[in-house]
Amino acid sequence: MKISFEPFDFSHSIRWLVAGPCAAESEEGLRAVARVLCKVRDANPRFRVQAFRAGVWKPRSQPGTFEGMGAEALPWLTRLQQHFALPVCVEVATPHHVQQAYAAGIRQFWIGARTSGDPFAVELLAQSLGKLQGVECVYVKNPPAPDLRLWQGTIDRFKRQGIQRLVAVLRGFYQVESQYRNAPRWDVALDFMLRNPTIPLLCDASHIAGRVDNVPKIAMQSLEYGLQGLFVEVHHNPSTAKSDAKQQLSPEQFLQLLDDCAVQEALFAPPPEEESMELRHLRRQIDTIDEQLLDLLARRKQVVLKIGEWKQRAGVSPLCVVRWRHHLGALVRYGREHGLSSRFVGSLGDRVHREALRYQLEQRDEAPPSEAPTPTE
Ligand code: PEP
Ligand code: MN
Repeated sequence: MKISFEPFDFSHSIRWLVAGPCAAESEEGLRAVARVLCKVRDANPRFRVQAFRAGVWKPRSQPGTFEGMGAEALPWLTRLQQHFALPVCVEVATPHHVQQAYAAGIRQFWIGARTSGDPFAVELLAQSLGKLQGVECVYVKNPPAPDLRLWQGTIDRFKRQGIQRLVAVLRGFYQVESQYRNAPRWDVALDFMLRNPTIPLLCDASHIAGRVDNVPKIAMQSLEYGLQGLFVEVHHNPSTAKSDAKQQLSPEQFLQLLDDCAVQEALFAPPPEEESMELRHLRRQIDTIDEQLLDLLARRKQVVLKIGEWKQRAGVSPLCVVRWRHHLGALVRYGREHGLSSRFVGSLGDRVHREALRYQLEQRDEAPPSEAPTPTE
């Protein structure tokens, strides 16, 4: 029997934090960072410390560089979890990683960028995590390419295996020209949030920024854009770090980041628009118009059903391509005259017609065709 968890609780005033070193290097080093994170957890209830992060197996571009301590680090993390009552999350890239980490008592896992872009690996991981009881959370980083469908596909593979508590992590995208290590592409992040309103999105400001001095700026921007919290690298002594030394915050820098007035503002002040009556009023108008659009679509459906009955009585096929093209052409022209793009009206009209066709086929107990012709064909 799977443990069923409450759905995530989103709130404006609470920000999530996942922090810890890029890699687990020594038990003492881990403990030094864990102490800082516990201080944050205990001192400021407005931060919800979700987990302590530490890489055990590191995906590195170059062989022969530090690839993590591997299983040797797991007992350190087991003890750390118990000692600080702090959940630990590690990166897993293979089912074997999952099994070893799970056996060490770890219940939170993150899927790194390189793995997240590999559907074969993701499928294997999703299946192996889906079989385990008590998985608390799976964090899914975006893949290196700004391909929302690929990221979404990864999320969906975990959902399909019954993983309920998924959290997405924006760690930026590979881009030839970028002032950062990875381009944040806030447009992709916003698109992700729109499509996944129930999945929290955290910002891995460290892997976007690539340099300590840029981390606060990225972190603040992410919170202004409405991301749910931060997933950041903190090392007890960054200058000695064996991986990602340039981007890991020291404990002091981490506390400074969280204390920073501007961050505080972004975190805890209500978004400025909430104070604006004008915006509230305009949004109310939009809501009303959207309802009216749905009312019209419901009315349209009734007419479509009547036409469907008529066609059935007359022995006429529901699909009349000539009429369809003609009508959509007229709609596109009409839309253009009213400042709406042909592309938008074309795809909207197409969608509405497909749905109408589906109603009429359902009336006859027939399955709808998988692809009906589009107006531009
Ligand atoms: C990491 O978090 O240390 C890491 C390897 O990140 P990414 O997969 O985003 O490169
Ligand atoms: Mn790292």
